[in-house]
Amino acid sequence: MTTSSFHPPVRTLMGPGPSDVNPRVLAAMSRPTIGHLDPVFVDMMDEMKALLQYAFQTKNELTLPVSAPGSAGMEMCFVNLVQPGDTVIVCINGVFGMRMKENVERCGATAVVVEDTWGHPVDPQKLEDALKAHPEANTVAFVHAETSTGACSDAKTLTEIAHRHDCLVIVDSVTGLGGVELRVDDWGIDAIYSGSQKCLSCTPGLSPVSFNDAAVARIKAREHKVQSWFLDLTLVMGYWGSGTKRAYHHTAPINALYALHESLVILQEEGLENSWARHRAHHEALRAGLESLGLELIVPRDHRLPQLNAVRVPDGIDEAAVRKMLLDDFSLEIGAGLGPLAGKVWRIGLMGYGANRRNVLLCLSALESAMA
Ligand code: PLP
Repeated sequence: MTTSSFHPPVRTLMGPGPSDVNPRVLAAMSRPTIGHLDPVFVDMMDEMKALLQYAFQTKNELTLPVSAPGSAGMEMCFVNLVQPGDTVIVCINGVFGMRMKENVERCGATAVVVEDTWGHPVDPQKLEDALKAHPEANTVAFVHAETSTGACSDAKTLTEIAHRHDCLVIVDSVTGLGGVELRVDDWGIDAIYSGSQKCLSCTPGLSPVSFNDAAVARIKAREHKVQSWFLDLTLVMGYWGSGTKRAYHHTAPINALYALHESLVILQEEGLENSWARHRAHHEALRAGLESLGLELIVPRDHRLPQLNAVRVPDGIDEAAVRKMLLDDFSLEIGAGLGPLAGKVWRIGLMGYGANRRNVLLCLSALESAMA
């Protein structure tokens, strides 16, 4: 078989992620590879930490990008903070809450599930009731920005409730970071993970995480060794911790980290609050255009994520055929529904670099033509 270089087509990525990558990020990625213990690289890592602290709005020392995708950030939170025998309240209102439950159980802990309808946020009252019924729980886990439905949960209120019941919180903001208000320190979030490929518009494969002092104290007090060597924070800290000599832990994905650094510089240049406002503005334009095409969003207005728009597929429309036509005729990717929403919704992302007027107009005109 004769093979040659791979040249992907140029697409517009308006699905649930990855999102369109800013050309500046792709350019950063192609810069010369240097050693992961090179002093110049180590300086870049220090900057990266400060940039991530800004993006998360935290002063947490333990803030770093995990060298693996969002699922690894998720797993890092659970394997370090949850021990066999623990009880964890897991709020499920979509696919990613289900994955949290799976993680809890694989840690040898008991998951108590608080369920909400897909497309709705986590109900704080249900969390309160579950915590009253399970005083033995020591952790609450929930998804801030549910990518499978486009629902945004009130992370501040959920964290307050968990803390009143002496629980730490683990928050998934893979789709939230950079696209919607998120204030890790002000809201008191103990452990959080995100992803590089959504509103940061970086290439996929890195997972920013942050842990506060309470989370670090719990990790230090563990009775059982963390079952994962790669994700054991006590070991990772030797490489990412500041003030100490950096020890080899794994070979960092050097060029991918240049890319993340660049995407965070871009976020800082724009300003976090401006980025949130831009996502909101383009979401409103998309929503208005969708409504004029007779389409509706499934999430109630006050709980919509601007960066992930789940649109009900009208009766009589072949949703897969529409997506195929968008891809073939417009080189435009939008997402399908997952789980109970499979076949019922399209998921339209307006994330990071892709949250712009051109994409909104392209998507609306492509949908109009595909449904004609
Ligand atoms: N959590 C949420 C809310 C997500 O949307 C995703 C990915 O889409 C993940 C976790 C997993 O991230 P990754 O696919 O980068 O492993």
